[in-house]
Amino acid sequence: MSYSGGEGRPPIPAEIRRGVLVEAGHRCAIPTCRYIEVEVHHIVPWAKCQSHQYDNLIALCPNCHKRADRGEIDRKSLKLYKANLRFAHDKFSQLEIDVLFEVSGLSDGQFVQWPAFNMLLLKRLLDAGYLAVQEPQGGVFIGGMQSSPCRLRISEKGRAFIKDIGIHEL
Ligand SMILES: [Zn+2]
Repeated sequence: MSYSGGEGRPPIPAEIRRGVLVEAGHRCAIPTCRYIEVEVHHIVPWAKCQSHQYDNLIALCPNCHKRADRGEIDRKSLKLYKANLRFAHDKFSQLEIDVLFEVSGLSDGQFVQWPAFNMLLLKRLLDAGYLAVQEPQGGVFIGGMQSSPCRLRISEKGRAFIKDIGIHEL
C-alpha cells in the first residue's frame, strides 16, 4: 500500500478491508490479471477523498496498483471492474442484472410487468431485497398460473446498491 503525504492517514478499518478482499476473492480485481498478491487501492485517490469508503476501494496486485496510480487504468474502468465483482459476488443472473437496471431507470409511478408465475427467475434479486413487488389484484388463473402480472419497482435497498456501484456516474 502506498502511503502518500504521511499526514497521519488512518488505516483502512479491518472490516472494510476484509469486505474488499473477499469481494475480489483475495485476488487482483482486474479480470485478466487475478494475481494472488493484493493491496487495497482507492479508486478516487486518498488525497482527494480522505476517507475509506467500501465503494471506493478495490483489490489490486502491486503491478495493477502501480498502473492505476499512473492512470494507465482509469477510474471509470476500475469502477466497472468493481461493479463486475459485486455482481459476481452476489451471483445475480444476467437476466436479473438486466431487470435491476431496467427498474433503476424508471421514474416515479412507472413499473415493469413481470409474470407472477415466473418470480423464481428473480429469486436472488428478491432475496437481496432490491425489488419492490406489487402482487396482481384478482386476475385470472389459467392452468393454475396467475395470468395477471406483478408490478416491479426498485426498492430503497436496490437504489442504494445501484448508487453504491456508481454505474450512473460513469
Ligand atoms: Zn493485477
